[in-house]
Amino acid sequence: MEDIPVSELALNPKRGGPKNLPIAEVMVDDDDSEAMQAQRDKPKLVILGTGWGSVALLKTLNPGDYHVTVVSPVNYFLFTPMLPSATVGTLSLKSLVEPVRRIVHRLRGHFLKAEAEDVDFSSKLVEVSQVDANGQRQNFYLPYDKLVIAVGSITNPHGVKGLEYCHTLKSIDDARQIKNRVTDNMELACLPTTTDEERKRLLSFVVCGGGPTGVEFAAELYDLLNEDLRKNFPKILRNEISVHLIQSRGHILNTYDEALSKYAEARFAHDSVEVLTNSRVKEVRPDKILFTQQENGKTVTKEIPMGFCLWSTGVAQTTFAQKLAKKLESQNNKHALETDTHLRLIGAPLGDVYAIGDCSTVQNNIADHMVAFLRTIAWEKGKDPEKVHLNFSEWRDLADRVKKRFPQAANHLRRVDRLFEEYDRDHSGTLDFDELHELLMQIDSKLTSLPATAQRANQQGEYLGRKFNHIAKAMPGMRANEVDYGDLDEAVYKAFKYQHLGSLAYIGNAAIFDFGGMNFAGGLLAVYLWRSIYFSQSVSLRTRSLLAMDWTKRAFFGRDIMSF
Ligand code: FAD
Repeated sequence: MEDIPVSELALNPKRGGPKNLPIAEVMVDDDDSEAMQAQRDKPKLVILGTGWGSVALLKTLNPGDYHVTVVSPVNYFLFTPMLPSATVGTLSLKSLVEPVRRIVHRLRGHFLKAEAEDVDFSSKLVEVSQVDANGQRQNFYLPYDKLVIAVGSITNPHGVKGLEYCHTLKSIDDARQIKNRVTDNMELACLPTTTDEERKRLLSFVVCGGGPTGVEFAAELYDLLNEDLRKNFPKILRNEISVHLIQSRGHILNTYDEALSKYAEARFAHDSVEVLTNSRVKEVRPDKILFTQQENGKTVTKEIPMGFCLWSTGVAQTTFAQKLAKKLESQNNKHALETDTHLRLIGAPLGDVYAIGDCSTVQNNIADHMVAFLRTIAWEKGKDPEKVHLNFSEWRDLADRVKKRFPQAANHLRRVDRLFEEYDRDHSGTLDFDELHELLMQIDSKLTSLPATAQRANQQGEYLGRKFNHIAKAMPGMRANEVDYGDLDEAVYKAFKYQHLGSLAYIGNAAIFDFGGMNFAGGLLAVYLWRSIYFSQSVSLRTRSLLAMDWTKRAFFGRDIMSF
C-alpha cells in the first residue's frame, strides 16, 4: 500500500445528530493529494474496544479497504489469560500488553482514547466522550458506515452487598492493586504492633468464584507463598497463611470435564487451599465474608475473617451494552447483545452494526434446528411430521444429534430431559410435535449462549475481518447505506460457526487440558505445555521476548515482592 500521510480526525464546524453535538470527521482540503482524498472516501469502519475481538479483527483486515477508527478507554491490548500470573509478580504487567496504536497503524487508521456512550442507529452516529486536558468531559459524534461493538464485559456482582471491599481481576490496574494489597498485607503482618489475631486475618486470602480466573489466581497465590515467602518474609510461618476458595456449584471449574475438576480439587486439597463448594456468598464486610451452606436441609450462615478478597464470579453486561439493548425492541437477552449468525446486531439496520466477544451472544435458533431434525426423523419413519409423537428414547436420539452440532447446548438439553419427564407424567408417554416445539421455544434463548472467552472473541474478530475483506472486494468503495444491495453479508460469506478448541487452566505447578475427548492433567511437563500454548498465542515478538525474560528471571531470582 502506498505510504500516504494519515489525515487527522477533526471536528466539523457543523453540529448534528439528535443531541446536536460536534461531529468528528476526516477533513480533506482540495489541495490534499488524491490518495488522501481517496482514503477519506472509503467506507467508515468504527470499532469499539481494543480487546480480543477488536484486535483479531484489526489484524485480519486488509489495509486500504476501509477508513478505520478505533475507540477505547485504554490504548493497549491486554493478554488476559496470563493476568493471574501478574498479580503475584510471576510476570511483569508490561509483558501482557501490546500498544494498540501499532496495530491500528498497519491499517492507516485512527485511534481515539475515549469511551463510546451511545449509538444513534438511524443517523449512524456513535456518541463518544473523552476527558480533555482541563479535566472536562467532552462529547462528540463519530459517523460510521459499519460499526463493530466489542466492548467486553464487567464482573458480575450478583447483587451481593459489600463488593467495595473486594478486588476484581479484569484489567491491568486490577492486577497492580491486587499485587500491592497482597504484599502490603504481608508487610503489615510483620509489624511488631500487629496482634496475633489481626495477623491471622491479614494472611487469610479468600477467592469467591471457582471458575478459571478464581482458580488460577488461587494457584498463583499458592505458588508465591510456597516459593518466595520464606526468602522474603522469614517471620511469617506458612501455616499462618490460609487460602479459601468459595464456589456456589458442586465443583470448581464446572465447565471442564468432571475428572479434571476433581483433579484440580484434589490438587488444592493437597496444597492446603480450602475449597468450599455449594457455598453462596451472602455479604462481604471489611474484615470478613459471610456465606451460606446447606446442612441437614437447613441453610446455615458461616463466616471467614479475611484480609483480602477476590470477587470473580462470571461476567455481566457493561452499562453501554445495556443501554443499546434497551433501545432495540428485538433485543430480549438480559446478559448480552443478541446477534444473528452473521454477527449483525439484531434490531439495528441490516449490515450496519455488528457485536462480537463477551458483550454479545449469537442466536442460533437451536429450537428451529431441533424441529428440523424432528421432521427428518418423522420422514425417515414415513410419518407426517405434524402428526408424529415422540417417546423419551426418540427424544434422546434427537437430542444426541443436536448435541453433536451444538456442544454448548448439552446442559440445556439435559434440562429438556427433565422437562420432558415432567411433561411425560401428564401426557401418556409421548409428546406431539406442537408440544415439543413449544417446549423448545421456551428454552431457546437459554440454548444460544456461547462461552465468554478470548477463544470465542478471537474467532469472531477474525471471522468479521475475513468477511469485511470479502465485502470490500465485492463492492469496492461502497458504503453500506449507498444502495439497497439485499443481504450482502450472506451473499459474500458464510455464517459464523464457533469451533471449541479446548480449555486449559493453571492450577499451581500443574495444569489441566480439556480438549473435548482428549483430556489430561499433570505436573511440570503440563505447565511447560500450558506456557508454550500461551507463549505462541501472544500477540507480538515483543511480548514473547518479555514473557521469556520474565520466566527466566523468576527461575533464577524468584518473584519481586514489592508494592508501588
Ligand atoms: P475484552 O477483551 O474485555 O475487551 C473489551 C474492550 O472494550 C477493552 O479494550 C475495553 O477497554 C473496551 N471498552 C469497554 N467499554 C467501552 C466503551 N464504552 N467504549 C469503547 N471501548 C470500551 N479466555 C480464554 O479463552 N482463556 C483464558 O485462559 C482466559 N483467561 C482469562 C483470565 C482473566 C483474568 C480474565 C479477566 C479473562 C480471561 N478470559 C480467558 C476471558 C477473556 O479475556 C475474554 O473472554 C475476552 O477478553 C473477551 O474479549 P472481548 O474483545 O469481548 O472483550
